[in-house]
Amino acid sequence: MKTTNLGYPRIGNQRELKKALENYWAGKEPVETLLETAKLIRRQNWLLQKEQGIDLIPSNDFSLYDQVLDMCMTLNAIPDRYISIKHNKNFSSEDLYFAMARGIQKDGVDITAMEMTKWFDTNYHYLVPEFSEGQKFSFVNSKIIDEYKEALALGIKTKPVLIGPVSFLLLGKEKNGNFNRIDLLNELLPSYYEILKQLTALDAEHVQFDEPYLATELSNKEREAIRFTYTQIADKFPELKITLANYFDCFGENLNTVLELPVHTLHLDLVRCNLQLDDILNSNKLKSNTHLSLGVVDGRNIWKNDFEKSLELIQKAVNNIGEDRILIAPSCSLIHSPCDLELEKNEANLSAEVKQWLAFAKQKLEEVKTLRDFAAKKNLATTIDKVKANVLANKNRKTSTTIHNPEVKQRVEALTTKDDQRINSFSVRQKLQQTALNLPLYPTTTIGSFPQTKEVRSQRANFKKGNISTEDYNTFLEKETRETIKFQENAGLDVLVHGEFERNDMVEYFGEKLNGFAFTSFGWVQSYGSRCVKPPIIFGDVSRENPMTVEWSSYAQSLTKKPVKGMLTGPVTILQWSFVRNDQPRSQTCAQIALAIRDEVVDLEKAGLQIIQIDEPAIREGLPLRKADWEVYLNWAIKSFRISASGVQDQTQIHTHMCYSEFNDIIQNIADMDADVITIECSRSQMELLDVFHEFKYPNEIGPGVYDIHSPRVPERSEMVALIEKANKLIPAEQLWINPDCGLKTRHWEETKKALIEMVAAAQECRKKVAAIA
Ligand code: GLN
Ligand code: ZN
Repeated sequence: MKTTNLGYPRIGNQRELKKALENYWAGKEPVETLLETAKLIRRQNWLLQKEQGIDLIPSNDFSLYDQVLDMCMTLNAIPDRYISIKHNKNFSSEDLYFAMARGIQKDGVDITAMEMTKWFDTNYHYLVPEFSEGQKFSFVNSKIIDEYKEALALGIKTKPVLIGPVSFLLLGKEKNGNFNRIDLLNELLPSYYEILKQLTALDAEHVQFDEPYLATELSNKEREAIRFTYTQIADKFPELKITLANYFDCFGENLNTVLELPVHTLHLDLVRCNLQLDDILNSNKLKSNTHLSLGVVDGRNIWKNDFEKSLELIQKAVNNIGEDRILIAPSCSLIHSPCDLELEKNEANLSAEVKQWLAFAKQKLEEVKTLRDFAAKKNLATTIDKVKANVLANKNRKTSTTIHNPEVKQRVEALTTKDDQRINSFSVRQKLQQTALNLPLYPTTTIGSFPQTKEVRSQRANFKKGNISTEDYNTFLEKETRETIKFQENAGLDVLVHGEFERNDMVEYFGEKLNGFAFTSFGWVQSYGSRCVKPPIIFGDVSRENPMTVEWSSYAQSLTKKPVKGMLTGPVTILQWSFVRNDQPRSQTCAQIALAIRDEVVDLEKAGLQIIQIDEPAIREGLPLRKADWEVYLNWAIKSFRISASGVQDQTQIHTHMCYSEFNDIIQNIADMDADVITIECSRSQMELLDVFHEFKYPNEIGPGVYDIHSPRVPERSEMVALIEKANKLIPAEQLWINPDCGLKTRHWEETKKALIEMVAAAQECRKKVAAIA
């Protein structure tokens, strides 16, 4: 029985990669420094996994930005608009890579980034491959080979990891021409063969193909593509041991196809779907030489494994197919977990009581090894103690009194349908809001945050360390807020925001103020590129003790006659971007958060805020991977949002904001949220996302983003005018708002100011055009 791993966090224990990337982008460090840091992280990760007792250690799980972008580079799937950079001697291969990731404005070159979207139901974002008709592929980038060799030089023969060809195609988009990207398979496969050929020549033994689309409902054609691909690979490379990895859900109706494949190992996510083990073992269809990689340790959450449960699953598999064909693994790549629990020393954030219930990436590998040792009766003397300690910790958790609050549970029980409805329907509210707010056509606004400068971040860090007093910190925040309000007034924005300078992160900020949350100091997880999040841990019943945002919002409102938007994170997003307790249904935890946010919304209204935005960027990513499970989720998720939004009067305008997701299939549910205004990210897809709002005749107001905030590029006025006009073809002018795609916290002031001034000018130009016609 072997231990295996699917991928390790690549950001570094202390976010070394983030820092190196940002220094490089800022021109502070040469590319060599960045590459050196990257190499060091890979080395540390490999050695650590070896030390933790992992037999099959992955390689090519590292990425400077994103593993899907890496595949595009590897396979030469480079969209046409970057070709000029590729062939320009003034640009390096890193320039090209980061241009695709972030856009580029340099030396007269001005090119937008690739589209970005969420990786299945996680908060990790990947860059969407773009395919065109007649797309060609070729194996041109040796990253996978280089990293394999790099580990080899350390004495570690790794298992290179690739995104499988079918998932690679499905992750992408057809950009031009009328074709189905799955038909590119025949063109694509030879490049994969070339990779495998080179790996074979280097004596590689195992290769892992990630095909996470196997956890979704595939068409017959897509299933056939899977069958064809892995049959061909087995045929051409009989000596390679191929692991086919699926995660985040069951194989479902793809199971029969998968069981027939001549692959060496099937990886199963037994955390998300433990029933599939029975399905497989009882099917009698598992080939007699296929191995099973049992993903029993949750790669997506931070709770200690339940050894009793896992050992039961492992034992079942052992009884059926014998020890030799079993591997023990985390459920998915550990990039969705923080690095190392041992770094957590701050008891004020994370009490010893809560800490004993947790395991991060490094500890998860230890769990994998302990489970294997126990099941295979290896190193029993030490293993038994570890198993005992695990059982005890989990028992302590079940009976802990810090987790359960009867009052909170009762309040959720007592909810009625009245609690999730505004007083009147949107058409009535809209008139009242128009009178109250008196906004122009195409009102301009932003999504909430303004640049989190170095100074903002260092002041916060100093405040947290106790180096500066609360008073000094607040004085500083007031100054930032004042200047931001001044800027927005001068720029001519219509609805202002306070800028969110007091917030580190839109979820952590609220978590810190709510009961039932714990925090880590180093529990960072990569969100995209250099950006990381530190999800709070919801360990107990959630309640709000005091107002959380009223002070800053009222302060900002006191500085201006223009309306200021109160700014909150919605219950589903707080849930989705936290590590959530696994001892009660998520729906129940979400309802508890919804009530806490509702109290805050009501307090903001009382304090005189006429507009309140409840951000829900994460609603869509919470969707189960299988459509059959959607309705149940959407019912409680939308209801939670409505509970949070429905405590106010009709003339109070509720905004929501969503970004980086597809809306097509949930437009009815978005309408059911009944927010008075929704702002969405749209500029990267050039308003494509609006089609569905148009077709649906979305009744409420909507602000499609006209400015891509992921790029330092300043959009031109004419570009934004064109986007507004495009939007106006789909949505009546009276319903439209003008805003950036998302918050501006990652931008610098210089580009932000320029872009917003241009954005307001673009709105004014469009207003003039409308006035001229009228
Ligand atoms: N209000 C948040 C901000 O402006 C929204 C961020 C988000 O959608 N991810 O930063
Ligand atoms: Zn957003």
